[in-house]
Parts: sequence; structure tokens; C-alpha cells
Amino acid sequence: MQADGFSYISLRANSPAKFEETLRFYQEFGFRKCLDQLRCNDKAQADINEDEEHLRNVWLKLDPSSSNNMVNDLVLKLCLSTCVVDSRKPPNEDIDWGLEEQVIVLITKDIDKTRSQLEKLGVPMQKLVNTSEPEKIYAADPLGNILLFSSQVAFPGLLHESSSNNSREGSPKLLSDEEYKKRKESGEHHPPPRKIAILTSGGDAPGMNACVRAVVRYGISKGCAMYAVYEGYQGLVDGGNQIRLMDWKSVRGWMRVGGTSIGTARCKPFQTSEGRLKAAENLIKEGIDSIIVCGGDGSLTGADVFRSEWPSHVENLKKNDRITTEQAEQHKHLTIVGLVGSIDNDMSSTDITIGAVTSLHRICEAVDSINTTAMSHSRAFVVEVMGRHCGWLALMAGIATGADFVFIPERPPGEEDWRPRLCDVAQRHRQMGKRKTIIIVAEGALDTSLKPIKSEEIKDILTERLGIDTRVTTLGHVQRGGSPCASDRILATIQSVEAVRAVLTSKPDTPSPLIISRNNQITSTSLMKAVELTHEVAKAIGEKKFARAMELRDPQFAEEFDAFTASTILDDFSENFVLPKHQRIRVGILHIGAPSGGMNAATRTAVRYAHNRGHHPVLIYNGFSGLVRGTIEDATWIGVDGWTSHGGSELGTNRDVPGIDVDMGMVAYQIQKNKIQGLMIIGGFEGFSSLVELEKARQHYPSLCIPICHLPATISNNVPGTDYSLGTDTSLNAIVSACDAIGQSARSSRRRVFVVEVQGGKSGYLAVEGGIACSANTVYIPEEGISLSRLQSDVKHLLALYFDDDPDMSEGRIILRTEDVSETYTTDVISNILKDEGHRLFDSRTAILGHIQQGDTPSPLDRIRATRSAIKCIEFMEFHSSEALDKAYLSKQGTPIELTQCEDSVAVVGIWGADVRSNSVKSLLPVTDMKNRKPRSAWWFEHRPLVDLLAGRGLFTPEAQQLIAEQRNAGDEDKKS
Ligand code: ADP
Repeated sequence: MQADGFSYISLRANSPAKFEETLRFYQEFGFRKCLDQLRCNDKAQADINEDEEHLRNVWLKLDPSSSNNMVNDLVLKLCLSTCVVDSRKPPNEDIDWGLEEQVIVLITKDIDKTRSQLEKLGVPMQKLVNTSEPEKIYAADPLGNILLFSSQVAFPGLLHESSSNNSREGSPKLLSDEEYKKRKESGEHHPPPRKIAILTSGGDAPGMNACVRAVVRYGISKGCAMYAVYEGYQGLVDGGNQIRLMDWKSVRGWMRVGGTSIGTARCKPFQTSEGRLKAAENLIKEGIDSIIVCGGDGSLTGADVFRSEWPSHVENLKKNDRITTEQAEQHKHLTIVGLVGSIDNDMSSTDITIGAVTSLHRICEAVDSINTTAMSHSRAFVVEVMGRHCGWLALMAGIATGADFVFIPERPPGEEDWRPRLCDVAQRHRQMGKRKTIIIVAEGALDTSLKPIKSEEIKDILTERLGIDTRVTTLGHVQRGGSPCASDRILATIQSVEAVRAVLTSKPDTPSPLIISRNNQITSTSLMKAVELTHEVAKAIGEKKFARAMELRDPQFAEEFDAFTASTILDDFSENFVLPKHQRIRVGILHIGAPSGGMNAATRTAVRYAHNRGHHPVLIYNGFSGLVRGTIEDATWIGVDGWTSHGGSELGTNRDVPGIDVDMGMVAYQIQKNKIQGLMIIGGFEGFSSLVELEKARQHYPSLCIPICHLPATISNNVPGTDYSLGTDTSLNAIVSACDAIGQSARSSRRRVFVVEVQGGKSGYLAVEGGIACSANTVYIPEEGISLSRLQSDVKHLLALYFDDDPDMSEGRIILRTEDVSETYTTDVISNILKDEGHRLFDSRTAILGHIQQGDTPSPLDRIRATRSAIKCIEFMEFHSSEALDKAYLSKQGTPIELTQCEDSVAVVGIWGADVRSNSVKSLLPVTDMKNRKPRSAWWFEHRPLVDLLAGRGLFTPEAQQLIAEQRNAGDEDKKS
């Protein structure tokens, strides 16, 4: 008998029935009542009548003389709850029961026997989700108290014992098929965990490792056995050690690693039926019939072929005795779910593929570097980028780097002989004062007669016809390399979680799904339909149906192509692009709030596009206070050259809001004096507050009755009316690279937890998205706040993780804390608590990222978003001024000061799914929390539970779940209205 007499459980219930039921429950494990002790210890309790026994604290003790054979296996180790009462909520399935503060711990010698006993009693159970091991089982007694049955001597977080007994095998123990059959026959139905495999195939892409990590961990958290197939389809065909069971720790640290750590290969045998038959045999022998494939269209086609043939392979294998009838019966269907890992963004049906944005980062870094040498020598550079059938990388790099010309397969230059046009554009840009010429060419670029356009030829033309010193740079495999950028890490993670969900909800008769991103939402479509549409692009190009090819790309693609052309090439005021004279306006552009990446890129595009339309853009320096002082200057086309890649704010920015910090009368006066007929405000929440004030003041000042738009630019992403404000992506990348470095330091020092403070004001966006991208352990955000109990449970979880670590390994961990989350629990306080409570198992340090988060050069995504949004801002002003201007022109009355009274003409121009849209300030006010300076709902809040879950924690608190549901509903309502 192992009971060490440590403690008793004190039982009290609100009803006799519950009392009896619970008593019986504990008796099943060898506990007995010991009333005598109670009587002598507690007089008040002793006065309770015999028939009200349930109201007493009845003490239960493990009884070695009990006839129950469980007792010999159990040790009551620690009972945090001295009193078991009937006032608890029933345990919620979705929450990690390990986070419970009151747990009754029982050490068991035979965990399997305990599990059978629990199953027999029909007790709700939960496997510990922060490891893949079955040695700990949480169970709930009839009163809803949580019991932990553990085969370990120490319970991490509660007893600070050495972890020497903590030996781990690290893989889930699965029932063998025989065992399963036996249990089934004996009526003891215990389905084996679902086995799911992931493989990466085709060309490698940054983010594939993030996929494997998220698939493995999310799968384990759902009770599945997760496998990785090494070397793509070759691993399936070879079988054996190439199909490996993964545990929680197998994928530790994978988030930041580029390429694919489980390998990829082009596999000829898989293209044959015999090869696929072998693959089926290997899978069935492992008991696997669900695969998540991350790869390009080739790999996904292969997966679908495999799925369609699966029944015939199963039949064939059974007939030839390569598998048993039971195996054939158990694995009748194959489930395939696709994830698109491709740097080209060449898959139709999805807005973006995993790896494409990282690749774009590499290209932009290269072109930014080339820019400086091109400027120095006044040279032209022809930069060749990847994309055999897809011009996404070339076009986006063109937009993001402010290139002079791009060549892509889907949209050849209008004329068959593109050479004169290229020379024309390059020469005109030189005449405007440019010292450099950058041409970006996709490797598959074509002319209208489908003849390839090659870099060398472009070079020869520029050299020979224009006499420009021209060089060619082919970027090659640099584009595949490197650690994934923040957005790829996030995309890969949330898509992979969706892929596992798709496996778990799949049905044999539904087509294989492909997980895609559409309108900033993760969803799924038919894998084969997406592949067919992708092939149609190549076909359309082959048939010279270029308009169709553009259509088949994601919906933004054509718009982005037009944005590039309209803000770059059309500087010659071409006939049908430039507006009639009377419709041209003076557009004032100013920055407000803290600097953020993309502000300058937006200003550049607005200036150039406005020029190309015939408007007169003017730059207002130092925000509204600058406007009041009259620091205004005409913007020239060449004056903003190179601004795309400039970080910070070229115009100067501050937080002064008109009507609050600066005099509204003076603002109105300067607008009138400088004949500003449209105002574009680029900046953070102060921009939104300015809209509110300007709109209110319109009734007093006619000069404010002009179109006024706000282009959100702030790293906090707290402006209503947009999914992303400019600068958020740059900031996330800055946080990711800082946290990668901090994580490395934390690992190198012994067992260290870093509490990293990020900005965001009252918005937890950076902490949540940054938390996913940095694989943070947890995040503290204003939307949830911090409490002592939360900190306690976090300490417990960290202790559990460090207990669980290999004693020879030194793991570093990161927690992100939003700056304004709590005045009490500051970054230092949290770190000190962790240090003390870590009991030398781990220590803690802080890092305050501060203004580093504003980033240096803006990220490609911010530059592209800036370009699209800035064009929409100018279009918005044209739309809201044209009627008054036309009317004045027709009545020959001269231009009025008031151009519009319309409510919609004071608006936020923001990213709304795949679109850029304007939303009037009036319509946004009801969905804005002005006090906390943020929208009332936030789409990204849905990602919050994944941070904890993928760090090994159960699904969060019920309050947070409730909040998620509310936020989601509020978001849906907003979108509907
Ligand atoms: P990507 O997935 O990047 O498009 P590939 O086209 O090279 O890369 O495909 C990767 C692998 O997928 C191939 O080596 C092959 O094993 C498998 N595959 C491609 N197409 C098929 C197909 N039609 N049938 C079976 N397997 C295929």
C-alpha cells in the first residue's frame, strides 16, 4: 500500500444524492470515510444531524484495507482543495483542466488500469494536452472537481521535486489493432486516436515548417496521433522510417526555420500507379488514412489522384494479401486536405499562398540594395524574379520597390513590339530627374505573340537605344530562402489549424478540400477545382486570352496591376487618364500620430497618381499644427521618388488633433487660404479623431465641406474601418526578428523566460499576431487584462513545461505583454513573479521593444497596401468633388469653396477583406470605442486561443471563449451593416 498519509479529502455536497454519488465514486478508488477524526476536530460540524451528513466536511482517506483493488495502486499526493463542495461549475470540455487551481492529485502505479476504471465508471476525462504522453489523466468527480491521475512522482507546478523520475518516452501509446478489436468485441469500445500524416512536397517554401508545427500540435491537442512523412511522396513510397510519429516536442523551434525540415522531393515513382499502390500499403500498415499535403499544384494534383484511386489500391492490396481484411475495412477511405505552399502565389482561388510574402521580402531587400548602386552610377538594372506562369512576385516587387516597368506572363505589354514603349517610359522617367531605372521581369514573361521576354534583351535595348549603363541581376534561389516573415508564419499556422479541423470533419463523399485565404478569412474550396483553375491560367495565356488569365488570379491582382501602371507609368498625362481641367483639385496630404511603415509609400502614390490625373497635390508638413502654421509645399512627381522604401514619416508627424490640440478656425482658414479641395490624412487613431472633429466643425466652416479621408497608418491596428492599418506588417516583422534574437538568447542562457513588452495601446493586435508568429508561450492583452489567478496558472504551466523538458536542454520561452494591459502587473512585476515562482527551474528577464517596433524600412505588404489605398483615397476625393465641380463649370459660376455636404465624404479608406473601401465616420462611430481608442470588435481576436494552445496549453478560459464568440458576432454584424 502506497498511501503516504499525506492528506484527506474533505467531502461536502449540497444534496444527499450528490453526496452519495460522490462518495461512491471515491470508494471505487479505495477511499473510505473517517468521521471520527472530523468529530474530534470540529465541534460546529459535529452538531450537524446524522441525516444531514452531506452538509458536513466528511473526510475521506485512502484505505489500504479496502476491498477495492485500486487502492494498492494509488497514492494521494496532494490535495489543493481541502474541501470538495457542490458549488462548482461543471468542467468545460474545451478548457485545459490542467489550468485548474484546485486539483486533487493521485499518483498511480498503473495508469492503464486507472483509465479502464475511469472508463468503466463513465467519468469525464481529459488527456493532458501539453504533451503527447498518456501518463496523466484528468478526470472530473461527480461534483465537478478535477482529479489528476499521474504516473509521475512529482506534479509540476505544485511540488518542486527533482525531475529525475521524469523519464519520458515522448510518444502517444496507441492501441494496437488487435487490442482495439479485443476491446470492441468485449463491448469496451475505445476507438484508437485518429492518425493523421503531414507531408511537404514540390518546391520548398518558407512557412512549410510552421505548417508542420501547427498541424502536429493542433492534431495532438485534439487527441490525434500525428505523423510526418519525410521527403514528400518519396517517403510515402519508401515507407519505414520515413513515416514518423511526431510528438509535441518534435516540432519545437520550427516556426522560424525556412524551407521544410521534413524534406521534400520530386518523386517519379509516385506518378505511377505501382508507386501509389506501395504508398497506400505503407500508410495502411501504419494505420493512417488521413494526409495533409502542403505543396504546389503538382503535389496537390498528385494527392487528389491518390485519393481517387485509394479504393482500388485497398482492393488490390487485400486481394494480394498485402493487407488484412480488417485493415481494408478500417481504411476504406483516404482523407486528403491541401495547403498551398508556393513562393509564386500561383494558385487560383486563394488570395495568397504560404511562402509568397517571404519570397517578396527577399526580392525587395535585393532591389532596395540594388537601388543604391543604381543611383550612385545612374545605372539601369534588370532584375529577374521567379514565376514561370505567374507574375505575382514580379508585379508586387514592382509596386513595392517603385520599379519603372514590370514584365509578367499574364499581361504582356499592350503592343506586340514592347521595346519602344519600354524605352519611352525609361527615358521619360530619366527626363523627370530619375537617376536609376529598375525593370522587374518574371522568368516566364511573354509578349503578346507569346515570345519570351528575356532579361538580356531588355538590357541590350536600354544600352543600345538609350545609352544607359544596364546590368542584369537574376535573383534565383535567394527567393526561396530564409526565415519566414511574420505574415507567412501566421498564415501557415492558422491555415494548418483549419486543415486539421477539415480532416476531423471530413466525410468520404465530399471532395478533398484545399485550405485557402479569401477576403482575409481562412476558408476552404474544392482542391481539384482550384487546381483546374490554376491550370486554366497557363492555358489562357497559351491561347493569348490575357484578360481571362488576369481574371483567374486573385481578385486584387488586376487592381494592383492597374495601381502600378497608374502610379508609375502614366506620367505623360495620357489623353483618357487625365481629368478635364475643371475636375482637377488641390489635394492636401498630411501625416498624423506616431510614424509607421508605409506612410511615405502612401504619400508617394497619392502624389504620383494625383499628378497623373491632373490634380495638384500639396504636402502639409508636421500634421495639423504644421497646417496651422502654413508649412505647405507643392508636391512634385520627382520629389517623392524613392519614398516607397522610406520608413518613418517624411512629412513629419505629431498627435495634434484639430479642435482639440489646434484651433479649428485656423485649420479651416489655412485650408481656404491654400485652396485645398480634398484632404488626405495618413495616420493612426488621431486621424480618426480628426475626422470626427472636422465633420462636427463643417457646420461652422464652409472650407471644411470638402472630401476628407483618413488612410489608417499605425502599428497598433486600432483604427475602425480597416482590417489592417499601414505599418502593422512592418511592425510584426520587427517584433518577430527581435523575438527570434531574444529567444536565441533565452535558450543560450539557462532556462529563461523573457517577458517582452510590445506596443499597441489598448489593442492587443501586435501581441496576439506577434505571439503566433514568435511562438510565444502566452500573451497579456488589454482585451483580457491580467489577474493573479491568471499569473498563477501561467507559472504552473511554465513549471510544467520546464519539468517536461529534457534536463540537458535549455529551452527559452517568450511571453508578450501589451504595454497598456495593466498598471499593476507591469513587465517588471510579471518578470519578478516568474523569477520567484520559477524556483530555479527557470528564471526571467524583460525586453521592452519600444520604438524598434516602428521598423526600419517598410515591409513589402505595407508598401503594397499603401499603394492600393492611396489610389482609392484620390478616387474618393474625385468622387465626392466631381458633382459640385461639374455644376459650377456648367453654370460658369467659378469654383465654390464648399464641394460637398455629404456625410459619406468624411471617411476612413481602409482594407476590407480583399477590397479597399471607404466607410463614413458617421457609420464607424457606433462600432468604435472612443475611450479606449479602438474598434469594438476585432477580427484577429479569433486567433488569440491559438497562442496558448500551440504553446501547449488547453483552450483558455471560459470568459475568453465567451469574448471570442461576442467579438465574432459583433464583427459579423458590423460587416453586415
Ligand atoms: P509543385 O507541387 O511545387 O507544383 P511538382 O509539380 O514538381 O511541384 O510536383 C511535386 C510532386 O508531386 C511530383 O514530384 C510528383 O511526385 C507529384 N505529382 C505531381 N503531379 C502528379 C500527378 N499528376 N500524379 C501523381 N503525382 C503527381
